[in-house]
Amino acid sequence: MAFSLTSVDINRLIALDRAYVWHPFTQMKEWMEAEPIIIVEGRDCFLKDIKGRWYLDGVSSLWVNIHGHNRKEINDAIKAQLDLIAHSTLLGLANVPSILLAERLVKLAPEGLTKVFYSDDGSTSVEVALKMAFQYWVHKGEKGRTTFLSLNNAYHGDTLGAVSVGGIEVFHHTFKPLLFKTYRAPSPYCYRCELGLTYPECKLGCLNAMEEILSAHKDEIAAVIIEPLIQAAGGMITSPPGYLKGVRDLCTKYNVLMICDEVATGFGRTGKFFAVEHENVIPDIMCLSKGITGGYLPLAATLTTQEIFNAFLGRFEDLKTFFHGHSYTGNQLACSAALACLDIFEKDRVLENLQPKIGFLKERLKEFKELPFVGDVRQCGFIAGIELVRDKRTKEAFGYADRIGWRVAAFARERGVFIRPLGNIIVIMPPLCISLENLQRLLDMIEESIRRLQTTGDLEKS
Ligand SMILES: *Cc1c(COP(=O)(O)O)cnc(C)c1O
Repeated sequence: MAFSLTSVDINRLIALDRAYVWHPFTQMKEWMEAEPIIIVEGRDCFLKDIKGRWYLDGVSSLWVNIHGHNRKEINDAIKAQLDLIAHSTLLGLANVPSILLAERLVKLAPEGLTKVFYSDDGSTSVEVALKMAFQYWVHKGEKGRTTFLSLNNAYHGDTLGAVSVGGIEVFHHTFKPLLFKTYRAPSPYCYRCELGLTYPECKLGCLNAMEEILSAHKDEIAAVIIEPLIQAAGGMITSPPGYLKGVRDLCTKYNVLMICDEVATGFGRTGKFFAVEHENVIPDIMCLSKGITGGYLPLAATLTTQEIFNAFLGRFEDLKTFFHGHSYTGNQLACSAALACLDIFEKDRVLENLQPKIGFLKERLKEFKELPFVGDVRQCGFIAGIELVRDKRTKEAFGYADRIGWRVAAFARERGVFIRPLGNIIVIMPPLCISLENLQRLLDMIEESIRRLQTTGDLEKS
C-alpha cells in the first residue's frame, strides 16, 4: 500500500478533501461545511469509512456494483491481468480480454447485435451511439438526419451530446445554449401524465404523441434514444407495459434507428439480463456501462448491428471510417473485470437467485404506499423509487428547497445505511448479491426514515 491507514491523520485527510477535491453533483459550499465520509474498504454490500463505521451500500455505489465489494473472483482476474499488462491501445492493436468480452457480450445481447465498440463510461457509450447513428445515415446518403428524438425526463449522461438528448430540467437547463436541437416526446410518467391521461384507458396515448413527431420529422431524425422500461435518473419512472415495444414499432414504421440506453438497466438490474428482453425488443444500437465490470472499473460498450457496421466499410480513401476513440478504449484490466463479472452471473445463478428478492421487494413496497408523504411507489425488477409528495391527495410536490430526499438519506446514513435520492424520489438499488436479511434491513431503515419525517412537524405547515 502506498500509505498506511494507521499513520494517516484523519483530520488532515478531511482538510485535504475540502481543499482540493471537487465532488460531482455536489454543492461544494455545503460539502465543505460538513464532515466527509471517507471510504477505506468494502465487503459484500457494505462500505467501511476511515473511522471504522460500516454502511450498507443501498445504491450499489451509484448503480454500478453487482456482486458486492471485494469479490475474490474479480480481484483475482484483475490481479492476474495486471501481471501481464495493464493497458495497450485498441487503435491499431487488439488485446485478449477485449476480444473475449466482445464475444460474451454479443452472445448475451439480443439477436442481431453483433458488433461491440468500447469506450469508458455511460456518457461516452451514448456519444458513440449518437455519432454512429448520425454517420450511418450519412453513409446511406441521408445527410439531413441531424437530430434525435428523446424523452422528457431522460438521462443519458453528462457530456454535451448526452445532455442534448437529456430531459432533466434541473441538471440540463444551464447548458441549453451549448446543445444541439432535439425533438422531445412525453415521458411515460403515469403518476404525473403530461397528457393528463390515465393508464390503461389511455391506450398508451404518449406513443401517439411520439408518432406525431416521427411522422412530421422522420427525415431529420437519425434515431430515437430511450432508457428501456425505466427512466432511472429522471426519477425511477417506470413505463407501462407495451410502451417499449410500441417505441420499437414506431422506429421500424418510420425507418429511424432505435438506441436503447441500458447503462442503468443492464446486467440483471431489471430481473432479466437486459431490460429490452422483457418486451422482446431488439434495438439497432445498445449502450452498456455501469454494471459491466461489476462496479470495479470504468468501461462501456456500444453494441450494434451488422447492417450499421457494414455501412462504414469502404476503401481507406473513402473516409467512411468511424473517427472516434478514447485513450483507454478496450482497457485490459477493465475487460478482465467484466469477464469475471459475467462468470459470476453463471456460477452463482445470479438471475435465478434474484427472483425471490424481487418478489420480497414487491411485497414490502405495497406497505410503503401507506406511509406518510409517499405518493407513488415504482418498481422495475430490482430497482425501486419512492416518490415523496407534500400532499398525497393532490400529488403536490415538495419544493427543491425542502430537500425531502436528502433528509431521508441523512437520517439513514447516521444509522449505517447509505442511499442517494433523486430529488424527491428515494432510490432503492442495492447490489444484486444482497442477502434477504440485508435487503430487509435496508427497507426497514428507509421506512423508519420516511416515518420520521412526520414527527419533524415542519413539513405539514403548507
Ligand atoms: C448513469 C447513466 C448514464 C451515464 O453514465 P456515466 O458512466 O455516469 O457517464 C447514461 N445513461 C443512463 C441510463 C445512466 O443511468
